[in-house]
Amino acid sequence: MTSMQQALLLIDLQNDFCPGGALAVREGDQVMAVANQYAAEFSQRGLPVVATQDWHPANHGSFASNAGEPAGSCGMLAGQPQIWWPDHCIQNSTGAALHPSLTEQYITHRVRKGQNPDVDSYSAFYDNGHLAQTGLDDWLKARNINALTVMGLATDYCVRYSVLDGLALGYAVTVIRSGCRGVELKLGDCQAAIDEMAAHGAVIL
Ligand SMILES: [Zn+2]
Repeated sequence: MTSMQQALLLIDLQNDFCPGGALAVREGDQVMAVANQYAAEFSQRGLPVVATQDWHPANHGSFASNAGEPAGSCGMLAGQPQIWWPDHCIQNSTGAALHPSLTEQYITHRVRKGQNPDVDSYSAFYDNGHLAQTGLDDWLKARNINALTVMGLATDYCVRYSVLDGLALGYAVTVIRSGCRGVELKLGDCQAAIDEMAAHGAVIL
């Protein structure tokens, strides 16, 4: 039997995705307690806790303001279908910072994504065009990690893309459902994302 070497992956637990933020997810702040509980447990077991941050330059192509389109509408960016988002998670802004309720001392590694203005990057592993890696896969493989426990914001975008890429890269993936909240542009998007992750082999807790 192959032994499982675990890491915790906290997706985009940033101010802009929480109530009051630029791209607020309903109840986004309520997952911090779940994150702290799991991060403490992983930390006590000596296992890595990785936190991702959406980290955009102000001229990012996914911003409705830069596209000249209404936020929430769709177009194309870098050959990929793109939803135009409100300006969010601008590098070094308060909105891009991790939520103050998250206990940062447990975080052993940070992954920043979305720096390239020409392509969006929902996944912790790749940009949306799979043009470039973030470095997370190399970092995990260098530590022989083959199993990920994943939670964060938002269920229907960055959690979903991270989980699907993680599965495709060969990781066993468990999703902590109580630690996820979604954008839900369309009613049912979160449930569809959970179903899709499960269909690809993720264990949903
Ligand atoms: Zn973004």
